[in-house]
Amino acid sequence: MARPPSSSIDEFRSRMRGEVLRPGDRGYDQARTIWNAMIDRRPAIVARCAGVADVQQSIRFGRDHGLAIAIRGGGHNIAGNAVCDDGLMIDLSPMRSVRVDPRRRWAYVEPGATLRDLDHETQAFALATPLGINSTTGVAGLTLGGGFGWLSRKHGLTADNLVAADVVTADGRLVRASADDNRDLFWAIRGGGGNFGVVTLFEFALHEVGPEVLAGLIVFPGAQARAVLDRHRGFAELAPDELTVWAVLRKAPPLPFLPAEAHGSDVLVLALCYAGEIAQGQRLIEPIRGFGRPLGEHVGPMPFTAWQQAFDPLLTPGARNYWKSHNFTELQDGLLDILVEYAGRVPTSACEVFVGQMGGHTGRMPADSAAYPHRDARFVLNVHGRWDSPLEDERGIAWARALFEKTTPFATGGVYINFMTADETERVSAAYGSNYERLVQVKDKYDPENVFHLNQNIRPSVTEKVPVGRKGDQG
Ligand SMILES: Cc1cc2nc3c(=O)[nH]c(=O)nc-3n(C[C@H](O)[C@H](O)[C@H](O)COP(=O)(O)OP(=O)(O)OC[C@H]3O[C@@H](n4cnc5c(N)ncnc54)[C@H](O)[C@@H]3O)c2cc1C
Repeated sequence: MARPPSSSIDEFRSRMRGEVLRPGDRGYDQARTIWNAMIDRRPAIVARCAGVADVQQSIRFGRDHGLAIAIRGGGHNIAGNAVCDDGLMIDLSPMRSVRVDPRRRWAYVEPGATLRDLDHETQAFALATPLGINSTTGVAGLTLGGGFGWLSRKHGLTADNLVAADVVTADGRLVRASADDNRDLFWAIRGGGGNFGVVTLFEFALHEVGPEVLAGLIVFPGAQARAVLDRHRGFAELAPDELTVWAVLRKAPPLPFLPAEAHGSDVLVLALCYAGEIAQGQRLIEPIRGFGRPLGEHVGPMPFTAWQQAFDPLLTPGARNYWKSHNFTELQDGLLDILVEYAGRVPTSACEVFVGQMGGHTGRMPADSAAYPHRDARFVLNVHGRWDSPLEDERGIAWARALFEKTTPFATGGVYINFMTADETERVSAAYGSNYERLVQVKDKYDPENVFHLNQNIRPSVTEKVPVGRKGDQG
């Protein structure tokens, strides 16, 4: 791909309110660095957008010069599509404002905001919308792929709570997407990822939450994991929407409430959140302690914002990460056996196997209510391979893939697009499931030339573009 001449870049810079960075510029390396250190790509140009006008200019510039266009929100996506080689990276991270209208219970969120930014503003009014479990994740990518976390069983996906969005489409137009405007686009961006345009504003419905919730961790020895998981699945079936319990198999971090001799040993962590009346929650969670003989626990009322950041220390940026994910309608015996077996031989102490609990409100929405189709998924498995050195890639990836293969017979075949790695292009249609054909129609209308193809790509039926811009991957 030919790079644009310096004179064109200078002219582009003069049309922008935000910075335009090239290799060697101060801030360039920081801008191209994303959460997953396995992704190491070098865009020809980074457009650090300050607003809608900058996004419009950037799309025009990228198209005029035939550049691949990558869109960066929070930069967390495991596949690394936020950054490309040689092309143009539209970096939205400078656009981080969040405005809350407490009376209307409505939040206006720019696309560079993180979950922490949004929770911080909404919780000032004891309000929230469902988000993910790691506060440094970007609201943008999370929402566009679906988005689930501690409030989803009660209030649905993040995307289910999106009420409107501003989108700059491939032709540079700013359009509104909502139940009243461009309904096809509004449907598509709630699970269809970054395929249809650059979202410059998200508007969310808010709910009363906290400011304190009952939450925390109950940690069991690895030797009891299989028996505890058995009890957990029955309990999960009957849990009210307010209660969410995720199971995490890993080596014990050095948590102060665990005996020192347990640090580094195999454990099963049940992480729970009850988003309702605290005393009622205390009664409901009491049986969990009896699932086995816990090594320790840290459970109690805590600020919702604190719980939303509880996993941040284990999920810091800069490590090499490789994920594999499945959806399940139930946790069968054979599946639990495999999870425990593979958790017992994690290649590094930062690797983990987690089973997130879905269902509740999220599962009651029709599969075609939004582009996100996996309403049948009651549990989501993420095999999280994580390490520091490229020398560990081969062993770590082999472990994650083997666990994924072994558990495939128990899975629905669907997969959450936000948990897909770069090497899973063959799973794209499974990720959009029964909504795929309808998404192609919306793609044909809003992006017929596939300008936005650096994503879990929905190819337009009219034009097909060979994805470019990923050559610098490691691993
Ligand atoms: C540590 C960690 C924990 C996570 N936990 C959860 C969780 O609990 N629940 C959950 O649902 N997910 C979770 N995720 C997955 C997360 O939802 C995805 O990684 C998501 O894509 C992150 O969004 P981002 O904006 O940070 O990512 P980015 O990498 O910046 O963006 C991802 C993609 O979204 C598109 N995109 C981003 N912004 C825009 C925009 N404004 N307009 C158009 N397209 C855009 C682009 O295609 C881009 O490549 C987690 C991820 C990590 C790394």
